[in-house]
Amino acid sequence: QVNQAELLLFSVPAYACQRRTTLVNHNTALTDALSLLAENAELSEEEGRGVAFRRAAAVLKALPSVVTSMAQLEGLPCLGGHSLRVIRDVLENGASHEAETTKQSERYKALKVLTGIFGVGAKTADRWIREGIHTLQQLRESAQTLNRAQQAGLDHYDDLNQPVSQTEADAIGDIVQKAVACVLPGAQVTLTGGFRRGKDTGHDVDFLITHPEEGREVGLMPKIVSWLESRGFLLYQKTTRNSYLESMDGPGRPASNMDRFERCLSIFKLPDVEPQGTKEGPISAAPQKRWRAVRVDLVVSPISQFAFALLGWTGSKLFERELRRWAGHEKAMSLSSHALHDNTQSRYLRASSEEEIFAHLSLEYIPPSERNA
Ligand code: ATP
Ligand code: MN
Ligand code: MN
Repeated sequence: QVNQAELLLFSVPAYACQRRTTLVNHNTALTDALSLLAENAELSEEEGRGVAFRRAAAVLKALPSVVTSMAQLEGLPCLGGHSLRVIRDVLENGASHEAETTKQSERYKALKVLTGIFGVGAKTADRWIREGIHTLQQLRESAQTLNRAQQAGLDHYDDLNQPVSQTEADAIGDIVQKAVACVLPGAQVTLTGGFRRGKDTGHDVDFLITHPEEGREVGLMPKIVSWLESRGFLLYQKTTRNSYLESMDGPGRPASNMDRFERCLSIFKLPDVEPQGTKEGPISAAPQKRWRAVRVDLVVSPISQFAFALLGWTGSKLFERELRRWAGHEKAMSLSSHALHDNTQSRYLRASSEEEIFAHLSLEYIPPSERNA
């Protein structure tokens, strides 16, 4: 007697950029466990393991219904032995022992808290933990010197760890739009990142800015930043200038997947936009804060690279990684947020839309709302 569910086999292409992954996930119990292990691997600087767990989770996110038995996973790509053991544990016992143990471990908890500070990565968190710092309190009391980003991150810790809503993203969008319209009329602002993919919350808000006339965007970022700063909208900002041309020492391959656009990582001071509710509290409480800190990323791209920048900054991170892997391994091309280089023909392939880039890569076009791998 064969169980009905076991007859339901899934079929999924190997690369996430060949699949449509919406925000509807039928297998959150499985993907939560795998994502937690992926995060733990990344925080422990085990990138390879992290990617393996991310890929496995992404395959399950793309399935059209809930997985109920191991037999249904037959033939699915990207499910290695370790991921399969985690899945089996969840299916048989309702939870992954490894994921639960990890979640409760002191090291994971400390890594989460410390890397929750803007400007603190896995390396710094690891060093602090080895020096006995596991909590914000311990960090504040320690003699550690923090850089400007980390200090701002610590100052605004609670705000920055509260998800940004769509209403807040819209309000930030209005401010950025106004700044850009004032300093360079005709320049265009596009929402990217998770909000462009349709997510209803984010850890930050991402924008890409360009001008339809090539070259007019040069020097734009400092002007936007001054406008925002003079009106009190910035709690922190760090602007990095465009270094794309300097980096062109090989055939279209900047050394890492970091792009080289003029960019600004910032913390906005956003006046309250959400209804505040009726907070109970002592009458004599300190005056209520009427703003909150929100992380905002601004990127400026010349119009000739706009499609590549838009594709590169829309995410998800795994989708981007998979696009580059597909380009390299299957098409002998190098894809970045600046350009697409055909290594066989030794030439750059132009594109003025995301659709054209997918076509160059012989991929079916996947809209942003289905790039949630
Ligand atoms: P969240 O809601 O958590 O913000 P997100 O998908 O918007 O999710 P981000 O970290 O804001 O995540 O990144 C958005 C996109 O920008 C991703 O596709 C990522 O690859 C790209 N990106 C982020 N930082 C860089 C960088 N330094 N260089 C190039 N691309 C980057
Ligand atoms: Mn984002
Ligand atoms: Mn971002």
